[in-house]
Amino acid sequence: MNERKYFDYAATTPLDERVFKAMQPYWTEIFGNPSSVHSFGQQADHALEEARRSVARLLNARPDEIVFTSGGSESDNLALRGTALARREQTGANHLLISPVEHHAVSHTARQLADQSGFELEFVPVDEFGRVSARDVAERLRPTTAVVSVVYANNEIGTINPIAEIGAVCREMGVPLHTDAVQGAAHLPMDVERDKVDLLSMGAHKFYGPKGVGVLYIRRGTPVLPVQTGGSQEHNLRAGTQNLPLIAGLAEAFRIAQEESEENARKYRPMRDRLIGRVLEEIPDARLTGHAVERLPNHASFVFKGVDGNALLMLLDGKGYACSSGSACRVGNPKPSEILLATGLSEEWALGSLRITLGRDTTPEDVDALADDLPDLVAAARSFSSQ
Ligand SMILES: *Cc1c(COP(=O)(O)O)cnc(C)c1O
Repeated sequence: MNERKYFDYAATTPLDERVFKAMQPYWTEIFGNPSSVHSFGQQADHALEEARRSVARLLNARPDEIVFTSGGSESDNLALRGTALARREQTGANHLLISPVEHHAVSHTARQLADQSGFELEFVPVDEFGRVSARDVAERLRPTTAVVSVVYANNEIGTINPIAEIGAVCREMGVPLHTDAVQGAAHLPMDVERDKVDLLSMGAHKFYGPKGVGVLYIRRGTPVLPVQTGGSQEHNLRAGTQNLPLIAGLAEAFRIAQEESEENARKYRPMRDRLIGRVLEEIPDARLTGHAVERLPNHASFVFKGVDGNALLMLLDGKGYACSSGSACRVGNPKPSEILLATGLSEEWALGSLRITLGRDTTPEDVDALADDLPDLVAAARSFSSQ
């Protein structure tokens, strides 16, 4: 087997060495419970609040608007469920408006609120690039909309949404806007004032931080009911002793991701565009999915007509390339991605999806090697699929 090459940075990233170092004191030395009154507790609490201030500063938010969670999924859950239930209690609002290109952490939460808690769930349409328009949101907003949720940048197809425009129309209507920025925060400069968002989710492992820790930004005054009850940690919104090593790691990883985002984007974009150009030129019946320009700098995604996406992933893996189909479809039970179908692709195309995401260790040579090998691998996957 060739040397293995990782092209799946949208699934997860390795821990940055600087982040690993920043976490180290909090496993053994500074171990106190931040809620304890004594000096051990105070020392831990000081570190916790320093991490909170750092994250807040980078988001252009206030420290009391930052809630640490166990990851992007939990942040999405708290944002959707917590806000929907609180808004209904306060105002009777029972309408949920989300895009059809949300991560399952949002869409399955919204679905459960509809099925089990009586909310009315409505989907705002997307264009062929999987992009939501502010006008389409404005047309569907109601005084009884409890919360709107639109992904900042899509994990499967890389498309970036016009969140500031969507934020403006939600603000005008007085409806809270949540954005899942788990991918966006890893690559784009974040600013909750510029974007007029009320709730924003992030997860550290998508930006070279540890797994199992995330953030939910909650604008002051946004009604949210706790989803996890118990102690009064995290402004009474997320009970449980904070995981200080992971939180310190998240803060450091987010600082690095935000400070180095432009430099990284400058490095990734030419590689991404060369890869996209070569694939579309050299492989028949291939299409780019997502937006060509409004897309994550490290993200290339395609569909190949008449290809079994899982077969292609296995052939790639056999050559040492770790890629993704972009969605969690299982071998033997191929189901087209809802996100690709929402962009108007037929099943025949949508089943042949491939996501290639670049990261800090990717070189132009790696990208060219992959582009060299891909035409034959797609042809091989095609011949399987047609048997
Ligand atoms: C990875 C991801 C999530 C889930 O985050 P976890 O930290 O793995 O729970 C949610 N939304 C998007 C867009 C993601 O890419």
